[in-house]
Amino acid sequence: MTVSTAAAFARSVVAAGHPLRLWVDGRRRDVLVPAGVRADHGLNLFLDVAPTNSAAVDVQDEGLAADLSFSGHAFRVWVPWIAVQLLVDLATGAETAFPEHAPPPELPADLATDPWSMCSFCGMDPRDRAVVVGGVEARICDVCVAAAAEVVAAQRASSAPDRET
Ligand SMILES: [Zn+2]
Repeated sequence: MTVSTAAAFARSVVAAGHPLRLWVDGRRRDVLVPAGVRADHGLNLFLDVAPTNSAAVDVQDEGLAADLSFSGHAFRVWVPWIAVQLLVDLATGAETAFPEHAPPPELPADLATDPWSMCSFCGMDPRDRAVVVGGVEARICDVCVAAAAEVVAAQRASSAPDRET
């Protein structure tokens, strides 16, 4: 019930062109945010979604997807409503709280995650991806490796004619 209330509230705020603040339990593995953001903020993760580009904000029945910028890097976040305990319309101050979504101090093991084991590029938990290759300060999953390989191949293909001339 409250999940549909959250979706309805978020839709109305975004439709009005107002910025929306979400209070998110950033520890949950079903919340997709950059690994460093998850580690820094934990259960008190506040995300502000400014609908300057409404196409970048996708309010769905199950949660909200949005292209947000973290330290200048774009990242498509996904927040299920079950992980949101407060929504605020930053233009009017109107709030909708979901106390039943308030996170337990100790997250159940199946929802908990080790932030530093997650893919640094897509934020996915290694339990949801086949392979995670670790570097000194970052990790990459098999899906992101494949995506990166496509980008490299495309760049090589487009630059190849230049090399031959
Ligand atoms: Zn990844």
